[in-house]
Amino acid sequence: MPRVVIVGAGFAGYQTARHLSRSLRGRAEIVLLNPTDYFLYLPLLPQVAAGVLEPRRVTVSLPGTLRHVRLVLGQADHVDLDGRAVHFTDPEGTEGTLTYDRLVLAVGSVSKLLPIPGVAEHATGFRGLPEALYLRDHVTRQIELASAAGNPAECTSRCTFVVVGAGYTGTELAAHGKMFTDALVRKQPAWPAGVKPRWMLLDVADRVLPGLDEKLSRTADEVLRSRGVDVRTKTSVKESRSDGVLLDDGEFVETRSLIWCVGVRPDPLVSELGLPVERGRLVVTPQLGVPGRPDVFACGDAAAVPDLTRPGEFTPMTAQHAARQGKVAARNVAASLGYGEAAAYKHNDLGFAVDLGGVKAAANPMGVKLSGPVAGAVTRGYHLAAMPGNRVRVAADWILDAALPRQAVQLGLLRSWQVPLDTASPELARIPGRPGKE
Ligand SMILES: Cc1cc2nc3c(=O)[nH]c(=O)nc-3n(C[C@H](O)[C@H](O)[C@H](O)COP(=O)(O)OP(=O)(O)OC[C@H]3O[C@@H](n4cnc5c(N)ncnc54)[C@H](O)[C@@H]3O)c2cc1C
Repeated sequence: MPRVVIVGAGFAGYQTARHLSRSLRGRAEIVLLNPTDYFLYLPLLPQVAAGVLEPRRVTVSLPGTLRHVRLVLGQADHVDLDGRAVHFTDPEGTEGTLTYDRLVLAVGSVSKLLPIPGVAEHATGFRGLPEALYLRDHVTRQIELASAAGNPAECTSRCTFVVVGAGYTGTELAAHGKMFTDALVRKQPAWPAGVKPRWMLLDVADRVLPGLDEKLSRTADEVLRSRGVDVRTKTSVKESRSDGVLLDDGEFVETRSLIWCVGVRPDPLVSELGLPVERGRLVVTPQLGVPGRPDVFACGDAAAVPDLTRPGEFTPMTAQHAARQGKVAARNVAASLGYGEAAAYKHNDLGFAVDLGGVKAAANPMGVKLSGPVAGAVTRGYHLAAMPGNRVRVAADWILDAALPRQAVQLGLLRSWQVPLDTASPELARIPGRPGKE
């Protein structure tokens, strides 16, 4: 029986595995290699950091939802394309090898670094569950320490949170973060009068959500400013230090919290393959095949997929594209094994939804521009429909959050050195002695 190995169980890999297991129905062995036993629904991660959702809500069990797929826990370290083998390391450090007849690379992306002094040392990224958990604790801790601070300068510094990058991740994080810290402050009995948590959102572009529709930008900008977020466009960080950040306009902002949301780059495994790449993404045909390698396919953030709706461009790195590409990859892998016919990937954007916390959102489903509570309801409905599982638990957390005060406790399970910004594995917290890719 032929073996199909899928590397990565994010939006693209999960859908590839799901559709292949249905279409091949026992005619091939389907193996899914992933470092965790869950699919992570990344778009709801800001709500984990802000204490709206408990972390397990945004995970979907792989063995529990992918019948007829063999999960191998581990990280691919090297792909031997000529020998048709994937070498990997499992969570306990044991090395293994998986041979394949067909390979689907769906390893996604990691935080993008910029050569700015101090950022790698002092900033926290936002690409995985460990970072979201760390941030929830860190923010809670800063507010609690600010409340007990001996001097106003320390209090102000601890209450200042700087988010760099006003794409959907940074925008949602700042919007939710401000609501979260305002709620935390209300619970502090000895909170100094007149002090308010300050969230800054910086971007080099001239508007928030620069890649998205201008109406969405305006809606998000209005909500952020009305909530008290200090939005600074055409502004970036020149240097980061342990006591604050120096902006490129010369202002020094005292803070203990720099959150790095400037975007992503493809997983480093891609560049190690020695195959042609486009801005770090693996070049593939519209059928998602790797040119010259008929047994290798790639999809999602890791692949440069030609956008047939915008000739000359590649599909953007979004969950919407990754999930749909996964489905097409499954179809074309099956076709390459003699079952069905291959198809090219072509998908029109269905719009975007940006959750701004509370009942607010900015959305343009099918090009219809929405704001306020209607957008909020549409956005949450969209997320529930898009999640492959755990919907009832997510909805239950939203109801609880609307009815009850948010829980303000730190669990203290993660420290900053365990969630470095410069990592090839944002899905795993670093632990001493664990063999890693970085
Ligand atoms: C905070 C946040 C919010 C977002 N919000 C939205 C949104 O609202 N809408 C939207 O469309 N997009 C959103 N995105 C972008 C979207 O999540 C990505 O485009 C999407 O996850 C890409 O899917 P993927 O399958 O290519 O990669 P991923 O979903 O990142 O999955 C990659 C998988 O590969 C695994 N992996 C990585 N390296 C290896 C290895 N060496 N060996 C084995 N496995 C490996 C990872 O553990 C992971 O499971 C958001 C992203 C973030 C970070």
